[in-house]
Amino acid sequence: MVDIGDKLPKEVTSFINGKWIDPNPRARRLPIICPATGESISMLVEADTTEVEFAVQCAKETFRSGVWSKASVDDRKTVLLRLRDLILENKEVIAKMEVSNTGIPIAQAYGRQIPRSAMNFEFFAEFISQSSNPVYDQNANYITYVGREPVGVAGIIAPWNAPMALASMKLAGAIAFGNSCVFKPSELTPLGFICFMEFLSEAGLPDGVINMVNGAGHVTGAAITANEDVDVIAFTGGTETGRIISAEAGRTLKRSVTELGGKSANIIFADADFDRALDAALVAIFSNNGQQCLAGSRILVEKSIEDKFIKAFVARTKKLKIGDPMDISSEVGPLISKAQLDRVGRFAAMAREHKGIEILTGGKLAEGFNKGYYFEPTVVRAKDNKQVVCQEEIFGPFATILSFDTEAEAYAIANDSKFGLVAYVWSTDIRKIMRAQAEIRAGVIWVNTPLVRELRAPFGGFKHSGVGRDGGEWSRLLFTEEKTVSVPLTDFPIPKLGMGG
Ligand code: NDP
Repeated sequence: MVDIGDKLPKEVTSFINGKWIDPNPRARRLPIICPATGESISMLVEADTTEVEFAVQCAKETFRSGVWSKASVDDRKTVLLRLRDLILENKEVIAKMEVSNTGIPIAQAYGRQIPRSAMNFEFFAEFISQSSNPVYDQNANYITYVGREPVGVAGIIAPWNAPMALASMKLAGAIAFGNSCVFKPSELTPLGFICFMEFLSEAGLPDGVINMVNGAGHVTGAAITANEDVDVIAFTGGTETGRIISAEAGRTLKRSVTELGGKSANIIFADADFDRALDAALVAIFSNNGQQCLAGSRILVEKSIEDKFIKAFVARTKKLKIGDPMDISSEVGPLISKAQLDRVGRFAAMAREHKGIEILTGGKLAEGFNKGYYFEPTVVRAKDNKQVVCQEEIFGPFATILSFDTEAEAYAIANDSKFGLVAYVWSTDIRKIMRAQAEIRAGVIWVNTPLVRELRAPFGGFKHSGVGRDGGEWSRLLFTEEKTVSVPLTDFPIPKLGMGG
C-alpha cells in the first residue's frame, strides 16, 4: 500500500522548463479540497498572466530550439512509450493522488482512468511511427507531397472530471507530433499531475516541452487563450467556457478544438438483451460519480418494457455502494465540490416540485456521511423531454427515464437536445440499429455497449457538444501544419518576362 501523505505538497506551483516554480508570495492561494472530507489537503498557487507568459515563452524557445520539434519519430516514440511505462509502474500512487482531489472511486481509477492515461501515450507513439503523408504524382511534370510539421505551442485546458485520462489524450497528441505545451488542469484537480511532471525528464522528454500552469480558468486559463504565442488550443470542458475560448481563439487567430458537454440518450428497445442493457445503463450514468460528458443521462425505454426496466434499474441503483473513494469496494464516491453538490441538489429540488417528474429513488444527500459531498444516486421519470432535467447537463449521479412508443419517437426525443456528443442504442435488430445510427445527431453512437473509446476513430460532438474531433488522424490535423511541396520533374518552359526592348 502506498501512502500518499508524503507526496502531497503543501503548495502546488507551476512546473515550467523542467522545474517547479518557487511559490510567489503575492500570488493568490486556492485550497485544494478532498471531496470525501471537504477538507483542504494542499494549496494551489495561482499563475498570473506574467507566469503564463513565462511558460509560453519557455515552450516557444524549446519549440524553436528543435530539441523536440525536430527530434526523430523513433526518438519521440521511445519517450512516449517510456511515459506509458512510468504511468503504469506508478499506477497506485497516481491513482491515489487523482482520487484524493476528484473523489472518483479508486477501483475506477485503477481500472479505467490510469490505464487509459498510459494507453494515450502508447497510442500516439504507435500512430506517429505508422502514419504517412500523401503524394500526388498525377501531373507528369511534377511530384507534389504534403509534409506535416508541428504547429508550435499548444495550450491545453482540461476539466476536473477525469483529469489524467482527458488531459493525457491532448498532451500525448501534442507532443507526439513535436509541439511544446502549456497545460492547465482544473484548479480543483492538479494533484494527479504532480507525479506525472516528475516523470517527464526520467522518460527523456526535454525540459520545456510540457509546462504546467495552475490557477482558475478566468485567470490562468484566460491568460493562455489570450496569449498570441499560443498557436493552438485543445479544450475540454463546459459549453459556456467553450464559447468564451472559441471567441478568444478567433480573436487571436489560433486554431482550436472544443470538447464540451452532453445529455446523451441511451435508447433501449424492447428487443434488446435486457440484462446487458440494464448493466450498461447503470455503468453509463453512475460511473465516475455521474460526472462524465458521455454519461447516458437520458434513458429512453420502449413502453412495453418500461415498468420492468424501471423496477430493475431502481432496485440496482438503491444497492449501489456509496462510500469513501479510497475504498476499493466503493461504486459511487462524493461529487467534486460543494458547488457541484448544490447544483445536483437544485435539479433534485426542481424535479420534486415539478408535476411532470417523479423521483423514483435518491434526490437528496446520501445518508451516513457527516462530511464530504455525497449525493444519493438518483433516478427520475419524466413525462416529456422538455423538462429541465431532460435538457440540462446535470453532471452527477442523476438518471432521467423517458419512454417512447415508436422508433420515430425515440429518435425525435434523442435529437431534441442542444447537445449531440454520444448516443447509446440497445437492440438485437440490425436494421433498426442501422436506422438509429442514421437518424441520431451525435458524434459517437455506441451500439449495445457502454463507454468504448476507439482512439483511432474521431471523438467529439455535434451541436453544442463541441467543435472538432480528436483521435488518431484528427489529433494529427489539430496538432500539425500541412505543407504542400511541389518539385518539377522536367525542365518545363518558364515564360520569359523582361526580355523586351
Ligand atoms: P469548465 O468549462 O468549467 O472548465 C474546464 C477548464 O477550463 C478548467 O480547467 C477551467 O479552469 C478552464 N476555464 C474556465 N474558464 C475559463 C476561461 N475563461 N478561459 C480559459 N479557461 C477557462 O468545465 P468543468 O471543469 O466544470 O468540466 C465539466 C464540463 O466538461 C462538463 O460540461 C463536461 O460535459 C465537459 N466535458 C466534456 C468532455 C468531452 O470530451 N466532450 C469530457 C469531459 C468533460 P478552472 O476549473 O480552474 O476554473
